[in-house]
Amino acid sequence: MKLKSVELIGFKSFAKKTRINFPTGITEIVGPNGSGKSNIIEAIRWALGEQSAKNLRSSRMTDVIFSGSQSYPALNRAKVALDFDNSDHFIDTNYTDLQIARTVYRDGTNNYYLNGKPCRLRDIQDLFMNTGIGNGSFSIISQGKVAQIFKSKPVDRRFIIETVAGIYKYRSQKEIAANKLSHVDNNFTRVSDLTYELG
Ligand code: ATP
Repeated sequence: MKLKSVELIGFKSFAKKTRINFPTGITEIVGPNGSGKSNIIEAIRWALGEQSAKNLRSSRMTDVIFSGSQSYPALNRAKVALDFDNSDHFIDTNYTDLQIARTVYRDGTNNYYLNGKPCRLRDIQDLFMNTGIGNGSFSIISQGKVAQIFKSKPVDRRFIIETVAGIYKYRSQKEIAANKLSHVDNNFTRVSDLTYELG
């Protein structure tokens, strides 16, 4: 699986339709301060379903819509589309070419699309769950995050390491199983009590 390109229209500083292709190998994006490098990374995270305005350095979710400049009027809609090459079927779907897209309007309406067809946020989250790519994963490390990881408490750092290593999902499955077991134990005690009461 590989991210082939990102297309932005009206997202943050990208008023006009802009397509960024990621050829094979490492892609480095360079530019002066304030030219929009971080906005591209945020666009990827946003299209993957980011729900926190703070994580997008905004106060409201609609702040991602281009707010106007001296040469270009403000827009009413932001759209980001991500194109993936999924020919290895790393993402569990029959599609070999996968496009996910998200739009937001000034009234706060969000729409999500899978290969051009409207879908739910949940569909996108399910698709990327446990791939290490989805929103909230550590595949995108934003500015300040590295320092934050080093400064975090050992217990928080352990959570990060377990998430990256893929252990965390087993820990949470273990907790679910332990809860079910305790529930069965309680039922068993209740049945024993009833059997005793009935003589
Ligand atoms: P640095 O190298 O300093 O980290 P950068 O290249 O990562 O900078 P960004 O932080 O991505 O730059 O872009 C910041 C620019 O995006 C600012 O000029 C800001 O005004 C602009 N910007 C952010 N949101 C919007 C918006 N909704 N509409 C128009 N421009 C916006």
